[in-house]
Amino acid sequence: MHKHQLLHFLIILVIATSLLLSSCSGERDVVNIYSGRHYQIDENLFRDFERETGIRVNLIKADTDQLINRLEMEGNNSPADIFITADAGRMIMAMDKGLLQPMDVTAIKDFVPSGLRDPDNYWTGITKRARVLVYDPEKVDLSELSTYEDLVLPHWQGRILVRSSQNHYNQTLMASIIAEHGEEKAREWAAGIVDNMARPPRGNDRDQVKAIAAGEGDVAIVNTYYMGLLLNSTNREERNIAGQMKIFFPNQQDRGTHINISGIAIAAYAPNAQNAQKLIEYLLSKESQEAFANNNFEYPVRADAQWIELFNEWGDFKSDTLPLDQLGAFLSPATIVFNQAGWN
Ligand code: FE
Repeated sequence: MHKHQLLHFLIILVIATSLLLSSCSGERDVVNIYSGRHYQIDENLFRDFERETGIRVNLIKADTDQLINRLEMEGNNSPADIFITADAGRMIMAMDKGLLQPMDVTAIKDFVPSGLRDPDNYWTGITKRARVLVYDPEKVDLSELSTYEDLVLPHWQGRILVRSSQNHYNQTLMASIIAEHGEEKAREWAAGIVDNMARPPRGNDRDQVKAIAAGEGDVAIVNTYYMGLLLNSTNREERNIAGQMKIFFPNQQDRGTHINISGIAIAAYAPNAQNAQKLIEYLLSKESQEAFANNNFEYPVRADAQWIELFNEWGDFKSDTLPLDQLGAFLSPATIVFNQAGWN
């Protein structure tokens, strides 16, 4: 081999090796997350995952709709590997926009109930929450409580606290009401709730509970974990407020309480899909599932994960068994129904 030929060969070898390394390091070293969840426990679990696997976790937190827009705009140039939402509805919308890809994660098939995940494996629940009624037992007699539907009865006039219809939890709840009763009945229900509201919708779920304590209303529609967060707050007043309230699981005599999930998925153009799969396996491990419960008071999606004492106090309950993926068809109608009913 001539000297210059050897030189060429060496140059090509160096280029080829560096290309190979850069593509490997893409697969081996990072996972990029777009998350609509903003909880400390998530970051703790990501850090543990980094320590255990050596895969670096890059986290971008933003509003879920902004992240969906961003994924759409970035298209196949998106660096996102994982997409996380605090709502099944938004996950279904992202899937319908072609922003997700199916995944092959053993823990999903083995441990996640079919109603809490996409049948074609485009997304899965990682935690579960129930949208319940929170009430002050000094102002509400237990016999007054029954279903979401009965909140339109006249005795609730001026007593109901619930946040805006812009809220994703309310939109998915409305989708479940439409799934059960159809659009027309759902519209009547929404109008009845508006009539019985203690005040125009404002604030988040926590603010509805605080408004009960402030005497503005008597019953609030709230996700369970917010009660856990208030009960364990560093703020004494929040602990006191939550301590005087009780939780009621509606619709126990019929379809069950509306549940929602925090969902996780692999982005359609994920550069590090293998790492993404590993992280999802990790978050579905029994240990991670119990960490979500212990720290954020969300129900595990795995049946074998240990319940915390607070869940036992609240008691077992019947969940709406309609698979969450079937709510997708009712998300657009839900927005229309809210508008027509004047639920701001
Ligand atoms: Fe939340």
